[in-house]
Amino acid sequence: MFYFSKSKYCDFRQCPKISWLKKYKPEEYHIDAETQARFDAGNEVGDLAMGLFGDFVEVTSHKAGGGLDLDKMKELTKQYLAEGRDNICEASFDYQGLYCAVDILRKNGDGYDIYEVKSSTSPDHYVYIVDTAYQKYVLERCGVRVRRIFLVTVDTSYVFGGTLDISKFFRITEVTPLVEEELKMVETSLKEAEKVMSAPTEPAVDLSEACRDPYPCAFFGYCTRNLPSPSVFDLYGCFFKKKLELYHRGVHSYEDILKAGVKLTGIRRMQVDYALADKGAYVDRAGIGEFLKTLSFPLCFLDFESVQPIIPQYVGTRPYQQIPVQYSLHILQTDGTLAHREFLGRPEEDPRRALAEGLVADIPADGRVIVFNKTFECNRLKELAAAFPDLSEHLLRIMDNVKDLLVPFQKGYYYTRDMGGSFSIKSVLPALFPDDPELNYHNLEGVHNGGEAMELFPRLKGMPEEERAKAEHNLLKYCALDTYAMVKVYEELKRVVS
Ligand code: SF4
Repeated sequence: MFYFSKSKYCDFRQCPKISWLKKYKPEEYHIDAETQARFDAGNEVGDLAMGLFGDFVEVTSHKAGGGLDLDKMKELTKQYLAEGRDNICEASFDYQGLYCAVDILRKNGDGYDIYEVKSSTSPDHYVYIVDTAYQKYVLERCGVRVRRIFLVTVDTSYVFGGTLDISKFFRITEVTPLVEEELKMVETSLKEAEKVMSAPTEPAVDLSEACRDPYPCAFFGYCTRNLPSPSVFDLYGCFFKKKLELYHRGVHSYEDILKAGVKLTGIRRMQVDYALADKGAYVDRAGIGEFLKTLSFPLCFLDFESVQPIIPQYVGTRPYQQIPVQYSLHILQTDGTLAHREFLGRPEEDPRRALAEGLVADIPADGRVIVFNKTFECNRLKELAAAFPDLSEHLLRIMDNVKDLLVPFQKGYYYTRDMGGSFSIKSVLPALFPDDPELNYHNLEGVHNGGEAMELFPRLKGMPEEERAKAEHNLLKYCALDTYAMVKVYEELKRVVS
């Protein structure tokens, strides 16, 4: 028998090769920590939505080994349907090997409505229609009359007042007409899927928009494994659509780009030229000099770490709001003296007030504040100023004093082949200081990037004391390296123009 699930069906509709690779080459599936954290957060939102319509029964059951007990779940679903329960969560069905679980199945007269819960902030993703059409198809073949279909998404305008109001946290959108239309595709798609999945040979599917839409595909590395490195997909600041167009014209390597006469300007030109011939470092002394002239001592190198909880944790915050929880600040004086300040909040309480006070105390009013990619830090400073009017004057002055250390790299004043067209501090630093272990993020313990910091901070809550102390230490070390790295980058800029 052909076995398929809702998620496999959605994968198949994104690209048939995804389903095939998941079955036959699962070891090639690679997602980063941030994407995994997003999936986990989706489960948390699903659990929260169960209470959306008051009393409910949930069929989720586990086997002794921990995996889902699907037989038990289907049996419980049958029982609750027979009992005429109003709200059945994770209601599970199987029609000739086609399995699906409905987030909330809600009684509506002689039938049921489907509520599909998404952690997304918008219902406007076609994959959700594909997903719910599959559910309707399976349920109707199992004898359930499906009347209406709804998407339950997160409303980012909701402000947490201290007790979570899930009726306001969620937004419900009816999608029945769209699902009815999409339903016509299900039967044909399932027949195709059966054919593809039963064949031992990898389906001949080439790269397309589906590799990024609706989700970045976790097999992209596998599917591009035979391309030269770097390839057209590494081009800086180029839309994926344009890269695809070049790829399908046979333009794969940087040599191909030149041969095909693709027009390149600015950084992209430099990226390709420097990749093809090791020209050392490109230094525009005048450009760097102009940038350095805009800086004045004391130089305050600042970096925030933040969390972005879907379910707001602190009064006055919204779903998905960026909450700064940590900062590192290196202060460089004219005489070369370097001081370090830092702050790390506690997840148990809103860290923003203490963090804002720390900034006001630590950053001199006349200090030139240097960040790497200023949009993020400036937005956080603006939000803090709005949240704490008594500190806003100083916080806004800090914001006005911000200079972006990214600029000399983004403008191409300083370029080396190793930057590979990426100007994040994680790319610039190893390119400028390839052999300095002190400036190597890989040598840090526990936390090596912002995503890991974001994932670790909320977990401090509930950690045993010793483990928590170690985790806090790792967070502080990570953030400190971000600002120390900026000091070193600044010194390097000074060195090359001296
Ligand atoms: S990378 Fe693209 S072609 Fe390969 S499996 Fe994913 S979506 Fe399909």
